Amino acid sequence: MSTAVSGRFGGYGGAYVPETLVPALEELEAEMEGAFADPAFTSELDRWLAEFAGRPTPVTHARRLSDAYSGAQIWLKREDLLHTGAHKLNNAIGQVLLAQRMGKRRIIAETGAGQHGVATATACAALGLECVVYMGREDMRRQALNVYKMALLGADVVPVDSGSATLKDATNEAIRDWVAHVRGTHYVIGSAVGPHPYPSLVRRLQRVIGDEARAQMLTRLRRLPSTVVACVGGGSNAIGMFAAFLDDEVRLVGVEAAGRGLDSGEHAAPLSRGRPGVLHGSLSYLMQDAGGQVLATHSISAGLDYPGVGPEHSALRDSGRVEYLAASDTDALAAFHQLCTLEGIIPALESSHALHVAAALALNRPADDAVLVCLSGRGDKDIDTVREYDPA
Ligand SMILES: *Cc1c(COP(=O)(O)O)cnc(C)c1O
Repeated sequence: MSTAVSGRFGGYGGAYVPETLVPALEELEAEMEGAFADPAFTSELDRWLAEFAGRPTPVTHARRLSDAYSGAQIWLKREDLLHTGAHKLNNAIGQVLLAQRMGKRRIIAETGAGQHGVATATACAALGLECVVYMGREDMRRQALNVYKMALLGADVVPVDSGSATLKDATNEAIRDWVAHVRGTHYVIGSAVGPHPYPSLVRRLQRVIGDEARAQMLTRLRRLPSTVVACVGGGSNAIGMFAAFLDDEVRLVGVEAAGRGLDSGEHAAPLSRGRPGVLHGSLSYLMQDAGGQVLATHSISAGLDYPGVGPEHSALRDSGRVEYLAASDTDALAAFHQLCTLEGIIPALESSHALHVAAALALNRPADDAVLVCLSGRGDKDIDTVREYDPA
């Protein structure tokens, strides 16, 4: 294993990868810099986002939800309205376009719940690239619908049987594939995690969320929200949202999954309860035991059920620029139902964690204050989980 010193956020990040991948990461970094400085690339990306994915997504004033808390006005950035139902497509389209620019015709990805796999398979079908998705066999069983969607989109879903047959095992398998086929293959990582330059690349591609929302709030209210809230799994929707507000006097709040409670040990809150360690190629807060073994995680929402977090969030936590709170399974479920009945929107369970904290922060604020929440995805995928937890 070699350690690159580039791509640090505070002391976090880096590239802890096998030697064979270093040239590919360097190529990706150079290509990424060239692409974002090239108006031909950025206008092609913008065109795909507008004409295929459905950007810009609107902001919605959650009137009845705000009234229920008689505090600040709650506004929603509607990534649930993006094609495929979540923010993940922003990243997948951008990375697949970048792969095309690098002359790589084969795309690989890992997926846990299947959302990133579906977004990547979607982008590959639209752009005509081969797509291989690694997925733990246990996750394939739990997320059969997404496996079928990927097949419909022409992707090859490869079952992974090693370890617990879930996301981290699928990630290991994807890395192994990349090492073996690095020349013609691009690995699309699904969140702001992994070795440098991925956290910066994913931030750049998700930043469209925050840039749009900031401009939309200024148009609509003629001022910025006082507070911006987003859920944090690997941290891509949150960093995409926060990036536009880091230099403003705006309170930024990330929300991790407290699962069955931060003291239960059954959660997915590395920034709240973890300590720094290396996972999947970068140094960041990590849920680990005293011996450094990665701990099992739990969250009602598959998208937040990850023991690590993007390195930039670790730096933002330490500097205090962003506050990281946590919402439990039951908090998220309550916020889920509230948005359904009060606003006519069925939110993803991931986003419901952010909604819970946003409502709590709105509570004692003046009525002319605004709290902006990233509604990262729609909840259609979570209906069975909700029905299981609390039958209507
Ligand atoms: C995957 C997912 C998340 C978590 O991923 P981040 O990289 O932390 O954004 C959040 N919300 C939805 C709807 C997702 O699908």
